Amino acid sequence: MRKHIVAGNWKMNKTFEQADDLLNEISEKMEAVTLGRDTQVIVCPPFPYLEMTSDYSDESYFAAGAQNVSDQEEGAYTGEVSAAMLQSMDMEYCIVGHSERRAYYHETDEIVARKVNQLLKHEIRPIVCCGEVLEEREANRQFDVVKEQITNGLFHLSAEEFGQVVIAYEPVWAIGTGKTATPEQAQEMHAFIRSLVAEKYGKEVADDTSILYGGSCKPSNAKELFANPDVDGGLIGGASLKADDFLSIAMSF
Ligand code: PEP
Repeated sequence: MRKHIVAGNWKMNKTFEQADDLLNEISEKMEAVTLGRDTQVIVCPPFPYLEMTSDYSDESYFAAGAQNVSDQEEGAYTGEVSAAMLQSMDMEYCIVGHSERRAYYHETDEIVARKVNQLLKHEIRPIVCCGEVLEEREANRQFDVVKEQITNGLFHLSAEEFGQVVIAYEPVWAIGTGKTATPEQAQEMHAFIRSLVAEKYGKEVADDTSILYGGSCKPSNAKELFANPDVDGGLIGGASLKADDFLSIAMSF
């Protein structure tokens, strides 16, 4: 059975000390809250704080994840971080193909596919982002766009490999804008994504795949988004930078 997942994407925020404080607050507050047994909370800080996050996660109820990974195994790739390095720091998850990486760092579906391969090789679960920009939605092309991203980025995997993947649908027009997809828009796209997975890998694999929503998800709208049958949680940006907001979202199932 698929998991409910709430993953915090800190992006390029927090100094070392601020990160320490936030991790400490999340850890302490998680002790006091009751989450559903099938709810997985994940914290994805910037690279320099991964070791600290991994240490906190050992003592707490959340898992640690990275925000990016190299598509190469090792060697002369200045500034890159490999999946082997993430594995050696006990990362359980890694975000791939976030719209900011696609837009600002030219991450294509082919690069996403190579990153996914690297992560799976090193036993890290990829959280693979997909989603359309505003002009594509206005042209009613959102389903074509998402289908292409998922097909090119993921459908080279075997069913067993695909079983490790988490998908995050993030309409780009809703990220960091305060504009959220309606619960109906989210459900419609999530059901579509699940149908693509079922077509490729069968119903059982599709039923086991966690599909997260991302885009201005906050305590005030998480409940109605997560109430949809195909919305299995959220990838949370801005609201993951405050422990209370983040945990309130995690309690919204
Ligand atoms: C994100 O960056 O993945 C995201 C969903 O951001 P926000 O929640 O701030 O819209």
